[in-house]
Amino acid sequence: MKKREFLKLTGVVGTGILVSPLMACNNEPQKEVKTEEPVLENTIFTLPELGYAFNALEPAVDAMTMEIHHDKHHGGYVTKLNAALAESTTFGGKSLEQILAAIGENDTAVRNNGGGHYNHSLFWKVIAPGGASQPSGALGDAINASFGSYDAFASAFADAAKTRFGSGWAWLSKSNDGKLVVSSTPNQDNPLMTNVVEVKGTPILGLDVWEHAYYLQYQNRRADYISSVMDIVNWDAVAANFAAL
Ligand code: MN
Repeated sequence: MKKREFLKLTGVVGTGILVSPLMACNNEPQKEVKTEEPVLENTIFTLPELGYAFNALEPAVDAMTMEIHHDKHHGGYVTKLNAALAESTTFGGKSLEQILAAIGENDTAVRNNGGGHYNHSLFWKVIAPGGASQPSGALGDAINASFGSYDAFASAFADAAKTRFGSGWAWLSKSNDGKLVVSSTPNQDNPLMTNVVEVKGTPILGLDVWEHAYYLQYQNRRADYISSVMDIVNWDAVAANFAAL
């Protein structure tokens, strides 16, 4: 479905507000003030195809983890996001990025499930099989300019992933000042959530460090999982994300 079809007006709520006589300070007739707030239909989100076989990342990530992670975990975030949006009047007509930029501390269900949908959609692409095994070109230059070297970046990124306490993500993002930054967020937060996260930006690489991402294969060895996944990052996909900004 095209975006503009999501954006169509579903109707107009006309709220007639009668000015209170107590508020009137002269003898003019009471005016009926009508406000017309268009209510935009919520975007309905769908689970994207993984785009490759569940076993395509073996031995770095096993097929069963990929299948459960994509179909059950990511699928669950999409279902719950749509349910949360149906209960809300705040996010109508907005893209996922616009929703994430607008969420506040109290938008718990949209925050968790909208983040979950965005984060996993990015993750499947940046670990897709193939592509360059190291950054080069404009992205390579930006990594060198921001971190000094690829190795310095990789060390900072792995540290962010390893030291995230509990569930969360490590990120490489382009910040508003144009620099690349490494950060981590708890739960399904991400750097687009400018109202609730410390390090803001647009992520171009994300690494899921929830236990559901690795526990079947790696059990408690999160560092081994991080090392394995960093070795299979599809840097062409990350470069495409960078070039799109
Ligand atoms: Mn996950």
